[in-house]
Amino acid sequence: PVGLVWFRRDLRASDHAALYHALRECAQVHCVFVFDTEILTNLPRADMRVEFIRESLVQLDEALRALAGCAEAGLIVRHGLASDEVPRLAEALGAQAVYANHDDEPQALARDARVRTALAGAGRRLHTFKDHVVFERSEVLTQSGAPYSVFTPYKAAWLRKLEPFYLTAYPTERHAHRLARRPPGERRPVPALDALGFLPTRLSSLRMPPGLHGAQQLLDEFLTRIDQYHTARDYPAVKGPSYLSAHLRFGTLSPRLAAGLAQQLSLAGQPGAATWLSELVWRDFYVQILAHHPHVATRSFKPAYDAISWESGPRAEALFLAWCEGRTGYPLVDAAMAQLNQTGYMHNRLRMVTASFLVKDLGIDWRWGERYFAEKLTDYDLAANNGGWQWASSSGCDAQPYFRIFNPVTQSEKFDPEGRFIRRYLPALAALPGPAVHAPWRARPLDLAEAGITLGRDYPLPLVDHDAARQRTLERYAVVRAPG
Ligand code: FAD
Repeated sequence: PVGLVWFRRDLRASDHAALYHALRECAQVHCVFVFDTEILTNLPRADMRVEFIRESLVQLDEALRALAGCAEAGLIVRHGLASDEVPRLAEALGAQAVYANHDDEPQALARDARVRTALAGAGRRLHTFKDHVVFERSEVLTQSGAPYSVFTPYKAAWLRKLEPFYLTAYPTERHAHRLARRPPGERRPVPALDALGFLPTRLSSLRMPPGLHGAQQLLDEFLTRIDQYHTARDYPAVKGPSYLSAHLRFGTLSPRLAAGLAQQLSLAGQPGAATWLSELVWRDFYVQILAHHPHVATRSFKPAYDAISWESGPRAEALFLAWCEGRTGYPLVDAAMAQLNQTGYMHNRLRMVTASFLVKDLGIDWRWGERYFAEKLTDYDLAANNGGWQWASSSGCDAQPYFRIFNPVTQSEKFDPEGRFIRRYLPALAALPGPAVHAPWRARPLDLAEAGITLGRDYPLPLVDHDAARQRTLERYAVVRAPG
């Protein structure tokens, strides 16, 4: 039989579940990626993710041809509605079955259901596989068979279940000769960005190399310092984290490979690797939360939190815009938003600080922030982003309690003690000496004058007073307190 592998968030040729199964079961295997107009039409014309994907596809195409050992094999790329394009291509190629990897986001499930129905109408099948995470859906359950909603016991169960089998790579090389030559009309290079209706972004000028080579380069570099991860990860001015999130998001790095390396080093006694493995468990945790509780995509995990009344009207919109643009007057928050706006990445500690600030200092609905991150993050992932926002707003499973409210100045003093990160992203404050950089409104007038800074002109005054905002938040959250 003929099979068609449909690539989505798994842009690699090695250790790929759907590709492996297709190669095992079919005499001839074609490969396709669809730039899905259902997704693309909602994106800004300059979008780093589209460029990241496009560059990654060029490398995937090369990798598939190398795997096949044939220049005429490779990736077929379509631009259209995936739910039309995939069944149409399957028919044109005479494929009896389409192979893809699970994507448990609600929209993706709906799309896959449409594709499955369309294929079935013509007697074809859609086979899907776990690939994106180590454990998914109902693989890790409590003793009573319920999904976990608290991380610590979930992680313990996840680690208990982690046998080598689950980390073994799918050997796609085994039947690679079955990768088919593309039909002559399909042997086109991956379309350029402008052919897709998009503009180039700053991606190539950032240290965020895309594709399989980018993933390998970042992974190799991270492995030289993974032993420091547990101590360095919280300080945005230093190279602590792996910066692999976009690669895990788009599958240019295998999650099994990542978890396997982390586990090996962790077993060898490296605490940094053990902490990093924990982060990969968080990734699986939120994916299974979304799969079991799809309502979180639009509502609070804990329904009581939907009763909270958020700021609204023009004042809320002005506060939100100031947050988006990094004009809150709190340097760590503003520097973090500048990092997001300029690079499409934000350090994890700062994601927590900025999310908490939006929700608990400005009183804005977490969904507004969630949407903004979704638009800007190259690593945007519905499950992780929603999990992070609901954690910060306290509405999520295993979230921080609502009365724990980050103090943006204390966070700044603790995690960017010398203000190196702040000065990197807020040049207006670069000359401000010492600790004043955490709270310029508290700086000595002489220091401000010597640094040439007039507050309100060169850098904003604080948008809100943190202590007063904290009080308002405690009142706002009173509705979630258990009655009695
Ligand atoms: P590392 O520290 O090197 O972590 C390794 C990997 O573990 C990450 O690449 C990621 O895949 C995973 N991971 C780490 N922390 C988490 C977490 N808390 N939840 C789920 N997975 C995690 N992560 C995303 O991948 N996409 C998002 O859209 C996203 N939005 C977030 C929004 C908020 C408000 C918060 C608080 C966190 C969010 N995170 C998101 C989680 C985390 O901040 C990022 O995964 C991390 O900063 C990515 O950088 P890294 O690859 O250098 O991380």
